[in-house]
Amino acid sequence: MENAETLSRPLIIPLFIPHMGCPHRCIFCNQKAISGQPSGILSTERIHREVNRYLGFGRRPSSTTQISFFGGNFLGLPISTILFLLKSVRPFVIKGDVDSIRFSTRPDTIDHQKLDLLSAYPVSTVELGVQSMNDGVLKAARRGHLAKDTIRATKLLKSRGYEVGLQMMVGLPSDDDEGAMETASRIELLKPDFVRIYPTVVLKGSKLADQFNAGRYNPMPMATCITLVKRLFLYFKTHHIPVIRMGLQVSEELIPSGELIAGPYHPAFGHLVHSEIVFDAMKTVFKKMDHQPRLLTITSHPNLVSRVQGQKKQNIDKLKRTFGLHTVNLVQDADLPIFGLKVNDRWVILP
Ligand code: SF4
Repeated sequence: MENAETLSRPLIIPLFIPHMGCPHRCIFCNQKAISGQPSGILSTERIHREVNRYLGFGRRPSSTTQISFFGGNFLGLPISTILFLLKSVRPFVIKGDVDSIRFSTRPDTIDHQKLDLLSAYPVSTVELGVQSMNDGVLKAARRGHLAKDTIRATKLLKSRGYEVGLQMMVGLPSDDDEGAMETASRIELLKPDFVRIYPTVVLKGSKLADQFNAGRYNPMPMATCITLVKRLFLYFKTHHIPVIRMGLQVSEELIPSGELIAGPYHPAFGHLVHSEIVFDAMKTVFKKMDHQPRLLTITSHPNLVSRVQGQKKQNIDKLKRTFGLHTVNLVQDADLPIFGLKVNDRWVILP
């Protein structure tokens, strides 16, 4: 859904460094995928070809453009590789075709020495794979770092003026809903510029797959996961921290679809979360009506209709089932704001 919020987000040119720079394997990570060696994965020619391909699509006038190294542990790479990658993309920034560089890395790779190294390059955004702020959960996930590493890394990055994004996971072994909310509140205290929320899925060849196959790990059911991620999204929203992604991105590069064994994966996971938020809001308003009607007319901006309906019209079916409605009409009105809708004559302002 294109709106003011999405248009203000940077246009990102992704450069994939698959699991490069990882000191070891986290429990949920794919064994086969991380065996890839850094050498020869990205040549200067390939980097330039890829960036030029994206630039050929044209820049969005209202947003910044960033080149992003993702899918690995950027600052865990050998220093010569870090410098090679940064030098390869710097000319695009110097030329003015791109505004800055971003990458994702582990919290335990952030130190003064590495940041000194970066200071000669136009890096503006760093994303940290936090996953959890509970040391027991981090140990069970074999992350190899602790919550205090995230606190130290975030503070250091912020003190150096970087935009900081924190990524958290839900459904890790030893974690639960309240643990995830606790992670969110500890992340909120760090005041990141944005967060991403990823459900844990079971990938072929991972240690988690062994636990799953042995009956020692149960992935979160999809409905439970949507509701938990909704709570997290609303929590961050209340604290003015943008959630820029909910749900895994499965692509042939990042996670080939055949590698997924189990877990709450849906290609439009974020849409499912937003649809549940809209359903909750409609339900609350309906419950407050004095004379609950049997016919409902929901009027919304055209861009909001898919969230009003929900996946496969689930929201409409649920409304009918829950309140014994016989008809729910959907009306589109482009003059309505995107953050609200009308249920009969009542306004619903979305959180
Ligand atoms: S989860 Fe991240 S840090 Fe862990 S092995 Fe995979 S890519 Fe490396």
